[in-house]
Amino acid sequence: MNQQFPTLKQTTLKLRDQFNRPLTDLRLSVTDRCQLRCHYCMPTRSGSGFSFLKPDDYLSFEQIEALCHIFVDLGVTKIRLTGGEPLLRPGLTDLIGRLSAINGLKDLALTTNGILLSDHAEKLLASGLNRLTVSLDTLHNASFQKLSGSNSNVDKVLDGIKVAQQAGFKTIKINTVILQGINDHEILKIAEYFRGTCHIVRFIEYMDVGTLNQWDLESVVPNSKILSQINAKYPLKPLSPRHYGEVASRYAYEDDQGEVGFISSITQPFCGSCTRLRLSADGKLYNCLFAGEGHDLTKALDNGLNDCHISAFIADLWAKRADKYSENRSLFHHLQENIQKIDMFRIGG
Ligand code: SAM
Ligand code: SF4
Ligand code: SF4
Repeated sequence: MNQQFPTLKQTTLKLRDQFNRPLTDLRLSVTDRCQLRCHYCMPTRSGSGFSFLKPDDYLSFEQIEALCHIFVDLGVTKIRLTGGEPLLRPGLTDLIGRLSAINGLKDLALTTNGILLSDHAEKLLASGLNRLTVSLDTLHNASFQKLSGSNSNVDKVLDGIKVAQQAGFKTIKINTVILQGINDHEILKIAEYFRGTCHIVRFIEYMDVGTLNQWDLESVVPNSKILSQINAKYPLKPLSPRHYGEVASRYAYEDDQGEVGFISSITQPFCGSCTRLRLSADGKLYNCLFAGEGHDLTKALDNGLNDCHISAFIADLWAKRADKYSENRSLFHHLQENIQKIDMFRIGG
């Protein structure tokens, strides 16, 4: 039987999901491993440990590169490398070099916990990485060790940010998750630490990702509260989004001392303009951060299917996509409580 697959050009023209959302962003997880055990992502109290991928399970750089060419042909303009901790993947700069050379890819970014950043920053930039996001929830070491379930030192992260700036990364985004009663007393301190610099702190509401973090609504600090607290001391004015699908609401300090952002997945979900597809390190595609199961691309790769077949598979997946977990959360939380969800460290943020 001769099945007819659309050509790359045909699929690009049609690539909208069930809510007319275009596919423009790919989150690419390069490992599920991490040297930290953040309370909200990979909590150590979850028991007997985690089952991580084995080296043979990982997509090779050649496979990732081939897939990324297809994603870009399908309309992806931005790829974010994530994990786990992406800087733990050996040879990452080789992959960055390959991806940054893809025609049509406009933005290649990376999210890191910053522990290894000072060692890697220069090479990351030289290999073609455009932008960096560093996660940082506290400025105090004792609190850092508690939140990250590790003996690592927060100074490594702070140094990493400085070294990355010196290496040439101009605006670094700082992802900060505030938890009620844990680090909410540091909101102003963190904002002040980066106020007056070119870096942008983005406060992210604590999300019910995965199944391990025992999330509850009481631990979430609504971003409206964080905004009011900062605004009371340092007046803020709203800025327009830079592009369709931007997840952070942007604000500038009225005295021109920089910018802060708010990602409010809980109190102001943004599923309506969600343009992101996620690829795990073992080659599974996830339509949503809260998806229960992935769609395996490895069989297609192993069977030597050509680019058009794989492209058609991805296009079909996107065309059927109807995920909007966060919007539904507030409406149907009681129904969603016990559903299976992929853990954040397997697909990145
Ligand atoms: N290890 C890297 C890091 O921490 O930056 C990249 C992967 S990590 C899963 C990506 C982002 O997800 C981090 O900024 C982290 O703070 C965020 N994150 C993890 N679990 C979260 C949760 N339950 N709620 C909100 N953000 C979360
Ligand atoms: Fe590791 Fe990032 Fe998850 Fe923390 S948030 S445990 S640093 S993957
Ligand atoms: Fe996108 Fe899913 Fe998050 Fe909604 S819940 S913004 S669809 S990833």
